[in-house]
Amino acid sequence: MTDAAVAFRDELVGRGLLVATGVDGLYGRGEQFEAVVEAVDRLVVEAARADAPTVLRFPPVMPRWVFERTDYLRSFPNLTGAVQTFAGDDKAHAALLAELEGGGDWSTHLEPAGVVLCPAACHPLYPMLTGRQPEGGRYFDVYGYCFRHEPAIDPARMQAFRMHEIVYVGDPDGAQAHRDRWVDRGLELLGGLGLAVEAVVANDPFFGRVGRMLAANQRDEALKLEVVTPVVAEGPTAIMSANCHRDHFGIPFAIESSTGEVAHSACVGFGMERITLALLHTHGLDAAAWPAAVRSTLWP
Ligand code: ATP
Ligand code: ZN
Repeated sequence: MTDAAVAFRDELVGRGLLVATGVDGLYGRGEQFEAVVEAVDRLVVEAARADAPTVLRFPPVMPRWVFERTDYLRSFPNLTGAVQTFAGDDKAHAALLAELEGGGDWSTHLEPAGVVLCPAACHPLYPMLTGRQPEGGRYFDVYGYCFRHEPAIDPARMQAFRMHEIVYVGDPDGAQAHRDRWVDRGLELLGGLGLAVEAVVANDPFFGRVGRMLAANQRDEALKLEVVTPVVAEGPTAIMSANCHRDHFGIPFAIESSTGEVAHSACVGFGMERITLALLHTHGLDAAAWPAAVRSTLWP
């Protein structure tokens, strides 16, 4: 696995599809890579048209209080990214610079900035939904960079990557239907690009001993489904996830369904870099030489 991942990464960087930064999982994107991301994204937007979602874009940082309420720290402390800044005076600045020049850990001179890096594109959405939702619920389209601290050689496991999500907030049946509908749409969209896709029951990588129970529960109740395909790892990799959150966001953000119950939510997340990597892995590193049917779907 590691050899194959190193070879794939080296090829991607060698051809300028990705730009190495010296940090595992952190890359610049070249023009050809972005052209594929953008083409796939147009297909996602088209597939979402039936939901008539409200389009919103959030920055890749979000308020700390929102992060606290999503309970992310309980489930994924190891993936967290929190922003720090310098808030001292001249004297403290001199100490910071002395530390830097001495090769010490200058970050101990920083303080929390009150913002964290978004771990999922949909998380900044929920605090603005407090209160009653209309009958039939609401659909949103959110797209942005996410951060997860999971440095890896495998280029499919990045620290900073984009998720395009279509989110439903409303009643339990609506959430379940949204999730199930998008598994089918995802299979059609991604399979239509010549990828060998399959939908499987999955679980999030919850942290620690308690996390193993949460993961088992999530699997037993089939709350998370993934569309997987070979990328570079031995097993297939998730390129899209469809999650039933139940009341996970409805409770902490006081979101109500049209009838005044705690709202349920569900989201589908397209992993834009992983889809692009899966296409490059499957059809070759030169998009100009991809099968005509794939090219005409991406660039009609
Ligand atoms: P939730 O709403 O439950 O917090 P989510 O749907 O917003 O979760 P995930 O299901 O964890 O987020 O991830 C969505 C998709 O993002 C995955 O299917 C995958 O394609 C992509 N993804 C996740 N982690 C990485 C990573 N480290 N590098 C690249 N892509 C990733
Ligand atoms: Zn989500």
